[in-house]
Amino acid sequence: MISRRSQQLESSGIRKVFELAAKIENPVNFSIGQPDFDVPEVAKEVAIEAIRKGMNRYTVTQGIDELRQKVLDYVLRTRGKSYQMSEVMITSGVSGGLMLALLSILDPGDEVIIFDPYFVMYKHLVHLLDGKAVIISTYPDFRVPLTDVENAITSKTKAIIINSPSNPTGYVYAREDIEGIVRIAKKHDILLITDEIYDGFVYDGDFVSPVGMYDKLLLLGGFSKTYAMTGWRLGYAVGPSDLIATMIKLQQYSFVCAPAPFQYAAVAALDLDMTSYFDAYKRKRDMIYEGLKDSFHIVKPGGAFYMFPGLKKGKASEFVEMAIANKVLIIPGNVFSEQDTHFRISFATKDETIAKGVEILKRLSEAYYA
Ligand code: PLP
Repeated sequence: MISRRSQQLESSGIRKVFELAAKIENPVNFSIGQPDFDVPEVAKEVAIEAIRKGMNRYTVTQGIDELRQKVLDYVLRTRGKSYQMSEVMITSGVSGGLMLALLSILDPGDEVIIFDPYFVMYKHLVHLLDGKAVIISTYPDFRVPLTDVENAITSKTKAIIINSPSNPTGYVYAREDIEGIVRIAKKHDILLITDEIYDGFVYDGDFVSPVGMYDKLLLLGGFSKTYAMTGWRLGYAVGPSDLIATMIKLQQYSFVCAPAPFQYAAVAALDLDMTSYFDAYKRKRDMIYEGLKDSFHIVKPGGAFYMFPGLKKGKASEFVEMAIANKVLIIPGNVFSEQDTHFRISFATKDETIAKGVEILKRLSEAYYA
């Protein structure tokens, strides 16, 4: 009954640790890719009011006008680029946006360039659609090797996906990375998909987005991380009107629309200033980096809420097993990568948990290297 394609797909390594977490008493949980704060009260109130007022039906597939306009205002304010209403849609999370984008552009055998370590969905979605994920390593510093990108382009290359700030590394692309990728995409007339779901969580200096540098570009953004709305399933896509129109058509046959009451809440959320939350996460980033920098090879994350330490020797999957046996939940890097040398820490948790986890991981690394 089950297709070969689906049978070949392993279930997510993150979910496995997530399920394990439920069984361990008082774990130090560094596995979760969602903020430890809750949805802002104002947004909750608007959602509740919307439900009470009967905004519980399907909305138009592309999303309510108020939210689409608000997203465009936000993109103009933060990226300096003005778009038309025909160039924006509301999706069921960035996950939904990614799915629709790839469905819209890929024919069997088409290639998509992604960077290793990669956000898990990219590789699997491309393969599910009978495309080929062309994986380019960015180890050890996570910078983009532009010559490798140039060499990887073929007549079948349909898109390049970038993700800054990145999951799982927290790496924020430097201006040279972004400009280099844009140059290559332009030269070969390839769609650039930029997943900017962590755009609020940037700790050192400016966030450089390719938006405004190139027209054949699809921006995917969302509400899951900035407003802790992971369960509300809300995101947006902004890009060329022919691509957006195709994505809307495909949304009609799949997700239908993003959750209605939460679209209203997202309009209110976009007015909020979340700076104090981001400042708190910068302190968490500093705490965990200072705590672990001597025990592992670490590229200091400039954004998101992840760190991707490399072991000085040995296999990360072995070290992760040892950590989990000691009640510290981390994710083996090979979930996000073709190599088994690193692991992912999510520091979206309480300061006390970070302090406790740092001590245990330091101790375990000494035992493991010995
Ligand atoms: N893109 C990246 C890089 C992510 O880390 C995540 C969630 O972890 C997503 C997309 C999916 O987000 P959403 O909850 O909006 O579907």
